[in-house]
Amino acid sequence: MSIRTRLTLWYVGLLAAILIVFALILYSFLAYNLRAEVDQTLETRAQQVAASLQAENDPLSVMLLGLVTLPPIDVFSSPGVYVQVLRTDGSIARRSANLEDQYLPIDREVFAQNMHGESVLYTIQTHQVRLRIFSAPLTVAGRIIGAVQVGQSLYEVDSTLRTVRLLLSGGIAATLLLAALGGAFLSRAALRPIDRITQTALRISRAEDLSQRLERTGPQDEVGRLAATFNEMLERLEELFTTQQRLVADVSHELRTPLTTIRGNIDLLRRGAAEDPQARRETLEAIEGEVTRMSRMVADLLLLAQADAGIKLEKKPVELDTLLLEVYRQAQLMADGVEVKLGHEDQAVVMGDADRLRQLLLNLVDNAIKYTPAGGKVKLSLYHEQGWVQVAVSDTGMGIPPEDLPHIFERFYRTDKARRRGGTGLGLSIAKWIAEAHGGHLTVESEVGKGSTFTVWLRPATAVTKGST
Ligand code: ADP
Repeated sequence: MSIRTRLTLWYVGLLAAILIVFALILYSFLAYNLRAEVDQTLETRAQQVAASLQAENDPLSVMLLGLVTLPPIDVFSSPGVYVQVLRTDGSIARRSANLEDQYLPIDREVFAQNMHGESVLYTIQTHQVRLRIFSAPLTVAGRIIGAVQVGQSLYEVDSTLRTVRLLLSGGIAATLLLAALGGAFLSRAALRPIDRITQTALRISRAEDLSQRLERTGPQDEVGRLAATFNEMLERLEELFTTQQRLVADVSHELRTPLTTIRGNIDLLRRGAAEDPQARRETLEAIEGEVTRMSRMVADLLLLAQADAGIKLEKKPVELDTLLLEVYRQAQLMADGVEVKLGHEDQAVVMGDADRLRQLLLNLVDNAIKYTPAGGKVKLSLYHEQGWVQVAVSDTGMGIPPEDLPHIFERFYRTDKARRRGGTGLGLSIAKWIAEAHGGHLTVESEVGKGSTFTVWLRPATAVTKGST
């Protein structure tokens, strides 16, 4: 069953329950009041007859002679109210004129009760109508001399109640019908945007086109927020999908070059290079170089995949100045005609993974040496100030064109000039990830022809962690 139908049914059901309870209360109240009014009239009339009988008769003559004068009872009858006086033997002594040749039915049991001084209120069904009768004993000077019956047809009350019943049930039925139509319309209108979202989602999944978005013309309500969230999700999916596609394309492209070189060199060996020791050495070196580069790329990719999966680094206090000294020594071995210097060096301890931090600095130093021509300079420095530990690697190399600067931290991005120098284009992505995984960041300043400075910003370990190992 659709939400629309369920909503409508709930709505109509609830309304029906409320209306029925309301109608029942209203009807019972009305019926009770109408009947109570009839009963009240009957009792009052009977009391009036009894009172007038008392007033008209002298108790002494009643007691001694048994003489009773009956009052003119028509005074007490009104249209629809019939009065009848019975003697003690149950015969009719007097009837109101509006009874004409009829009489009020006499119930023996009730009459017997009257003769014992009790008043009785009861309803009887004659062949046409229901009659409400109040039957009370008549006493003069403490002696029961008969009974008075006051009756009223319940026809009017019953037909009024019938009309009310008809109106209420008709009204309720009509209201529920309208409510069902209105409810169905409203729930359809409320759920239409959700239908649209479903349609778009279906279109997207069928066409496999993640660039589509939901139109958001409505207000910022629940559905509006759902559409916004859905769009955000699509945005993220599209981004991930594109990154994934680009990565696969990049990886296959990057692997193709070394593989082609290796195959070319193997061909060379086959075609005779293996005979000449010099040629053989060069060919094997070329193969080895490409294999090393490929291994590095695979290792880098593996690390970046782990980074994407959100691996947690094991952090311990690391003396960054000592680490920088180690990197400096290693850099001197890689220098290749470039002068590597150690600049300003403060002491600093950070919480981190020493191996990863070493890898970060080595990547920066490796780049600095790689992109600085022989005779140039590379300087490593460490500053500890204003709540930050900064490790700067600056060089006097070729620099980075401003249009490339925003992209150099992207995976596989390399400037045109750098392409000729091997490299994988992954070093800076890894460096950036390591800095960020330590709660820091990596910045760069560069000028073409003058050189570049890469700075790693890290938070120093607090005094407490500094002391503990
Ligand atoms: P690669 O393996 O190509 O060095 P990186 O991710 O380490 O990859 O660097 C990305 C690109 O940034 C490099 O290809 C290069 O163009 C540029 N780059 C990085 N460091 C320097 C630097 N010190 N001087 C000039 N260009 C640099």
